[in-house]
Amino acid sequence: MKNNNLRTIEEILRLENLRYNLREEALPLPDEDTGVCVEAAESVAKVVKSGKLCYWRGGPEAKKLEKEFANLIGKKNGFFHSSGSSALVTAVRAFELPEGTNVTITSSGFISSLNAIYHAGLRPRFVPTDPITLLGKFPKEFKVNYEAPLSLVTHFFGNVVDIDNIVNKVSSKYLIEDTSQALGSKIGNDFAGKRGDISTFAGSNRKLFGAGQGGMNLYDDEELGERMRIIGHHGKSDSIQAITPGFNFRGGEMEAVLGRFSLRKLEEKSDLRMESARVFTDILKDSGVTLAKKDVALDSKIVWFDNVIVLPTNWNKKGRDLLVEVLNREGVPAWIYPSLIETPWLKPWMNSKGWWSDEEENLLEYEKSIWDRAFVVGTQMSSEDSKKCARIIKEILAGK
Ligand SMILES: *Cc1c(COP(=O)(O)O)cnc(C)c1O
Repeated sequence: MKNNNLRTIEEILRLENLRYNLREEALPLPDEDTGVCVEAAESVAKVVKSGKLCYWRGGPEAKKLEKEFANLIGKKNGFFHSSGSSALVTAVRAFELPEGTNVTITSSGFISSLNAIYHAGLRPRFVPTDPITLLGKFPKEFKVNYEAPLSLVTHFFGNVVDIDNIVNKVSSKYLIEDTSQALGSKIGNDFAGKRGDISTFAGSNRKLFGAGQGGMNLYDDEELGERMRIIGHHGKSDSIQAITPGFNFRGGEMEAVLGRFSLRKLEEKSDLRMESARVFTDILKDSGVTLAKKDVALDSKIVWFDNVIVLPTNWNKKGRDLLVEVLNREGVPAWIYPSLIETPWLKPWMNSKGWWSDEEENLLEYEKSIWDRAFVVGTQMSSEDSKKCARIIKEILAGK
């Protein structure tokens, strides 16, 4: 690793404090694309004027969105939810696995995937993070001593997971792809999310699926879909009595309108995000930090959601946290993600079930050694702003 030209965090902070004290206030953050299409406003107004914003088992706009989204990704059906997180809850529950069943989950991912496994009473089995891609991947020689009927993989940061690597090692029958951040990314000729029994797409802030608030589960199997609809409708099919404990998770009509507009802009917005990521990477590639790359084992096209920056090995969590603070006041929207296995409630819960062993403990240490040195900067900005952010990071690390 080329890091001899990088300053220590102490030097950086001393210099940065001088500059910050001269200025006395934080610089503004760049305008970000929230994913919401303002040109949808009139169509949303029509829904408002109709007075009916939500329908049992989905209204006309939700039904159109489900069809259009499924066609786009190459699946047969969709179920529009109130959020990406609720969509993951019904997805995990839909397989009706007995409590305590093993589920593989990529430790590189968003907390919603772990929450969904917890709420289904299943046993999470974490896939370690690959230091090159920052995605879940078992090392070649890694021995897995369990089977997991279900795998939940997250295509984090827009980057795509080597699915075979995971499902083959743990002999999974079922697959959920959390594609929330990877709408538009491709593996071969297929969009990410084509392969899962259920693929989840979040429609919240900054996502390319710009529903404002919403989530989509795509699937082929109608029975699986019916189970999801029952779980998402208070546990009721059309009968009076609920047949399973459920939730109200259906998506609204205004959000469906916004979601439909955003899909029409997918290509245009994907190109902008790829360009933002390209200029960012270009500026930082020889600056002593490492950027997450795509998996060379896969023929893929990545629509980056976040640029992931990994600091050299002589950095630690404290230094990284301070650097992110410094970057924020310099107008760079840097952000931190921990590995999922670090989630504070996880270890006590797994211990209480007898599920936390030396394997989890060792993996926790390994995951920290990578994620303590990582931070992200989103691609939801103009390439000019993206260049500006990359230059500031480069300058600060070089102590200029
Ligand atoms: C945003 C996101 C979710 C959750 O979606 P919400 O709509 O915010 O609940 C789940 N997984 C990933 C990877 C996400 O980025």
